[in-house]
Amino acid sequence: MKNKHLLQQVLNAKDDYYRFKRGCLAEINAGGIGDSLIVVSLNVPGFPKRSQAADELFDRFMQEVQRQCDARLLLVLRNIANNYGFLSCELTATEAKRHCVYLESSNPIYRLLDADCFSKHGETISRTDLGEPKRRCLLCGRDCQDCIVSRRHKIEDVRAKYEEYLAMCSLLSLHQAQM
Ligand SMILES: [Zn+2]
Repeated sequence: MKNKHLLQQVLNAKDDYYRFKRGCLAEINAGGIGDSLIVVSLNVPGFPKRSQAADELFDRFMQEVQRQCDARLLLVLRNIANNYGFLSCELTATEAKRHCVYLESSNPIYRLLDADCFSKHGETISRTDLGEPKRRCLLCGRDCQDCIVSRRHKIEDVRAKYEEYLAMCSLLSLHQAQM
């Protein structure tokens, strides 16, 4: 019963994501705030989806995307399913995606983040559209989507790897704060 409740909450949270995404695209289409939409979220295997370390990592990556793409922050949605950051920028979705792919691979801990780029008509630009390799699985290095679909790993194992990455991130932040 408790699980059913949780599932419903996650579904509602996803609905919110789609609603906000539509709203942001409408705003971009109305003109004056850019040409494309970037949505930043975390890639979290299992539950819970949120934690202080996860939120901090998300915030840090958001700042990097803002800087790298000279993007404007539209809104941040934090709910049970994820952190979602909605940004608009003057770049085309393809150019924005190129910058985001660069950022995602600029630091190992950014493997936990996704930056989806959409044209103002809502078309997604994927890594493969740019001739870039797909995201790699944290555990085995194969195509991440392939591991998910074929359920290659136990969720506990993927989760443990995720926690390891997050811990690494906290250490790095601490280190930077002391410098
Ligand atoms: Zn794998």
